[in-house]
Amino acid sequence: MCPVDTGFSRRSFLRYSAAASVVASIPILTESHLAHAQRRRMSQNIPPDAVRINANENPLGPCTGACATISSLIPEGGRYDFDLTEKLITTFSGMEGLKPEYVMAYAGSSEPLHYSVLAFTSKEKSYVTADPGYEAGTYAAKASGAKVIPVPLTKTYAHDIKAMVAADPNAGVLYICNPNNPTGTITSREDIEYAVENKPKGSILLIDEAYIHFSDATPSLDLVKADKDVIVLRTFSKLYGMAGMRCGFAIGRPDLLAKLQPYGMNSMPIMAVAAATTSLQQKDLIAERKKINADIRQETFEWLTASNYKFTPSQSNCFMLDTGRPGKEVLTAMAAKNVYIGRVWPAWPTYVRITVGTSSDMEKFRTAYKQVMSSSTAGLEPLPLPERLRNAPYTHLS
Ligand code: PLP
Repeated sequence: MCPVDTGFSRRSFLRYSAAASVVASIPILTESHLAHAQRRRMSQNIPPDAVRINANENPLGPCTGACATISSLIPEGGRYDFDLTEKLITTFSGMEGLKPEYVMAYAGSSEPLHYSVLAFTSKEKSYVTADPGYEAGTYAAKASGAKVIPVPLTKTYAHDIKAMVAADPNAGVLYICNPNNPTGTITSREDIEYAVENKPKGSILLIDEAYIHFSDATPSLDLVKADKDVIVLRTFSKLYGMAGMRCGFAIGRPDLLAKLQPYGMNSMPIMAVAAATTSLQQKDLIAERKKINADIRQETFEWLTASNYKFTPSQSNCFMLDTGRPGKEVLTAMAAKNVYIGRVWPAWPTYVRITVGTSSDMEKFRTAYKQVMSSSTAGLEPLPLPERLRNAPYTHLS
């Protein structure tokens, strides 16, 4: 069965199109927009030679096999070539033991994240999320008029699943990011099972596994296979190093996926799709890249610990670092040293998010951070706002 035919008829399109048109003008927010908005607030362009550890990108980029695939496909760039998308879906579903109709490909996981929130929340059905957590779904919930219920992480930085489940009997979506962005911390399988069994009637669990490959967390795809009310999001932007290429999946029961389709469907970028297929087929890629990230993260953690800095025990390619002073000042001071670090979450104003970059990136990070922390931050005013950034989109992000 063709994966894009999952129960979505012309009649259902007409039925949904009125609702979808209300929210069609709301932008889909990605990590790149959020990172860009934070740069805009700092009034800075990032110079080409800067250390960029601000957007949870993978400095390794696409694997060698994926690069070769992309190059060889350039002459075919005039074709839509839907077969390549089918091949990606059958490759992934075959590897994971899923039926192909349980998998939808998108140009990144931001789209299905946004559409899932629009589809399953409303003025009556709230959006429950962790705090601090990845913000994109919160913006989508605001677009659907849903109440947003942020639930603080536990003392061990896991999602407080019991509190999330109890937060609102009329919840539409419980968003679980595992590992969590920005803390890189894990929510246990036991807790996720508790959420599946006890969540409010009519709600879905939206389990975002953007960073799962970096961690030892238990994936939730088996819950999809068991036909639970669960949508899992996956992306090629992180471990696979394809953030700029744009490819991801929504994985769920066909009737759940069908509810996303009225909000947007587009032809997939063929080079991203083919490169993603090659990446999946590259044996040992996950293990190799997981180890590279873990080794550099560990080296960074050892230095932070020896220097008495507090950070979240991440299993991912990012972590939160407590600067002990207003995080925004530290961002500005680090940028002045050509090291661009991630944003501050309002719930934790003294913390900044750090992406694990290359060894050389992290060495420069350490040098700059030590200098910043040993000096007064007084007088670190933002630079004048360049015209291009003043007119940038997403100026509404606070
Ligand atoms: N989910 C999480 C938790 C993320 O951090 C990101 C990006 O950083 C995304 C989803 C979306 O990524 P993309 O649209 O590049 O697949």
